Amino acid sequence: MTATVIDGKAFAATVREKVGTHVSRLKDEHGITPGLAVVLVGEDPASQVYVRSKGKMTVEVGMNSMEHKLDVDTSEADLLALIAQLNADPSVHGILVQLPLPDHLDSDLVINSIDPAKDVDGFHISNVGLLGTGQKSMVPCTPLGCLMMLRDHHGSLSGLNAVVIGRSNIVGKPMANLLLGDSCTVTIAHSRTKDLQGVVSQADIVVAAVGRPEMVLGDWIKKGATVIDVGINRIERDGKNKLVGDVDYDSCVAVAGAITPVPGGVGPMTIACLLANTITACCRANGLPEPDGLTA
Ligand code: NAD
Repeated sequence: MTATVIDGKAFAATVREKVGTHVSRLKDEHGITPGLAVVLVGEDPASQVYVRSKGKMTVEVGMNSMEHKLDVDTSEADLLALIAQLNADPSVHGILVQLPLPDHLDSDLVINSIDPAKDVDGFHISNVGLLGTGQKSMVPCTPLGCLMMLRDHHGSLSGLNAVVIGRSNIVGKPMANLLLGDSCTVTIAHSRTKDLQGVVSQADIVVAAVGRPEMVLGDWIKKGATVIDVGINRIERDGKNKLVGDVDYDSCVAVAGAITPVPGGVGPMTIACLLANTITACCRANGLPEPDGLTA
């Protein structure tokens, strides 16, 4: 048996197309152009690449992209002042502060200064609480993308055993809450979990968000399970740089029922979901119905 490969790149293109259609409708019928403001502090090369591709895709779907690039030594007061200004600006529907921030800035304080209604990353403590209590919130983009792919593949997730490996605030915990919201039986595994292989082998759905190259092996996976690989790890193999996930793809593809590749799986869905969150925020801000299928 060989698993169905879940094509995140193609799926993300359909999400962006849906967002684009809705943006056109907002412009034509209501004269509203959704706007996403991205704040980058410093010159971290990976962050610069992310911010550039976020900006490009924002414009491609017809939204306004506002980029604010600040010096690495920007003070907390100046950053908070910029966020206050963006919070008050009605043309800005989504605000994203690119993480990680330089060490002298308190990330929690900065994120919690964003208006929760504009918090398109879903990291504000209010959104975390709303998600945790099953209420309408802004949902973190990476887990939202995973959920969309799982729903598309399975239809209903109700009653399935899901194991999330990793308990980070940006992936593992929100992912577990989303799966719980779709009535899965959820286990969160982490670095102190005993018998990880035994835990994973019970799962109908495995979401790996660890940051360890090719850690999850095929003989851990229940036959026919769905494997979602969030990991992005740069390794060197045969003298070449390579991007691999947290899942050992070759051994898992032979056992799983469905699997996401790296690259081309979860990664492209993350930016697509950022755009989806921006249009959701824009509709909510204007008291308009939200597009179907673009949120949890
Ligand atoms: P993190 O470092 O914040 O969390 C890693 C988690 O893995 C921790 O909760 C830890 O307990 C767990 N862990 C560590 N070693 C373990 C082990 N041996 N066994 C079981 N659990 C273990 O990482 P993160 O921010 O959640 O990211 C995880 C991975 O996902 C990284 O590779 C990151 O690059 C990737 N990522 C991808 C996207 C995307 O868009 N595709 C987005 C965010 C993160």
